[in-house]
Amino acid sequence: MEIEHIRNQFPILDEKVHGRPLVYLDNAATTQKPLRVIEAVSGYYKTLNANIHRGAHHLAAVATERYEAVRRQVQQLIGARHSHEIVFTRGTTEGINLVASSFARRYFSGDGDEVIVSGMEHHSNIVPWQLAGARLRPIPFSDSGVLDLEAYGHLFSDKTRLVAVNHVSNTLGTVNPVRQMVDIAHAHGVPVLVDGAQAISHLAVDVQALGCDFYCFSGHKMYAPMGVGVMYGREELLDQMPPYQGGGEMISEVTFERTTYNQLPFKFEAGTPSVGDVIGLGEAIAFMQEVGLDAIAAHEEALLRHATDALLQLPGIRLFGTAPQKTSVLSFLIGDAHPYDVGTLLDQLGIAVRTGHHCTQPVMDRYGIPGTVRASFALYNTPAEVDTFATALEKVSAMLM
Ligand code: PLP
Repeated sequence: MEIEHIRNQFPILDEKVHGRPLVYLDNAATTQKPLRVIEAVSGYYKTLNANIHRGAHHLAAVATERYEAVRRQVQQLIGARHSHEIVFTRGTTEGINLVASSFARRYFSGDGDEVIVSGMEHHSNIVPWQLAGARLRPIPFSDSGVLDLEAYGHLFSDKTRLVAVNHVSNTLGTVNPVRQMVDIAHAHGVPVLVDGAQAISHLAVDVQALGCDFYCFSGHKMYAPMGVGVMYGREELLDQMPPYQGGGEMISEVTFERTTYNQLPFKFEAGTPSVGDVIGLGEAIAFMQEVGLDAIAAHEEALLRHATDALLQLPGIRLFGTAPQKTSVLSFLIGDAHPYDVGTLLDQLGIAVRTGHHCTQPVMDRYGIPGTVRASFALYNTPAEVDTFATALEKVSAMLM
């Protein structure tokens, strides 16, 4: 993996912030986009824009073919059995809301339905289940950020309808043992939804090897545009579930008395989708595959190790999330300094990190802290940037402590 060649493909990395070269370490929030993705989207609007699936004309036919080709690309990327198990959404949040709403209508009894979640979920894998009427049973985790699988096994009851767990924690970086968790859930006859928002750009994901029933992720966290994402669902379940939204494209026949629904995946894709962004997603997948998921994982792991070692040299540093299996997220506090102050001072030095609860308030409650500073790495980050970050933190920490 030739890092300069990769960086040259991301125009934003040449930007200056407060007169300094941008060091972008907020990749868990959103990744930057390579030029080829930006050009795929603008190329669509320049030469191809048409509404898909319903036109008899040339542009509509080509746009439809390009859109459906990306569905097959996603199928191949995550190892789904069928392309009609891939549903395009606006992102992870919409994917989980889709499943929560539709699954609950089909499988909840309305009498104390329970969903097991991990204690380290993003709010978007908590609130949709509460809206669907579930009582949540959280899996506890250790100080280092490892789920307690024994406790997990004890959470199942005859009210358990689903397990919803993230593949990778956005706050702690922990890679959860999804395959093992799926086996335990399936032994109880309970399906599993995996929130893959933080996994998809860091790990090779194979939904059949994982054995999960649903897998959701966002394009914008994997070098693709904002406003597009994927919900994978196993055909057997999706076939049983009612539509999430009603409108064009999701129907087979409509009368004022009765409507019948379209086949998968269109049953779950009401209205005009974000076609240009789906095409951008296809380009981002091609980009990631050309670099190679194994090469990306190895590069990011080296950055994480380098950054962890550098931060541990700083006086008063506390790391949150030190699981043996983790991806490129570093959450920390320095002494009593408020995370927001640390983030603001780093920004003055051109370094973009995230501060706060990272949409995981229960994680903050678990540690009894209001928030953390989070640095997160992507394939275009360099060891030199990590050094700049560590030196800047040293300065910031001297100012605040
Ligand atoms: N789940 C996890 C683990 C996340 O990190 C995020 C975003 O940060 C989401 C879900 C929500 O993703 P989106 O806002 O793209 O829908």
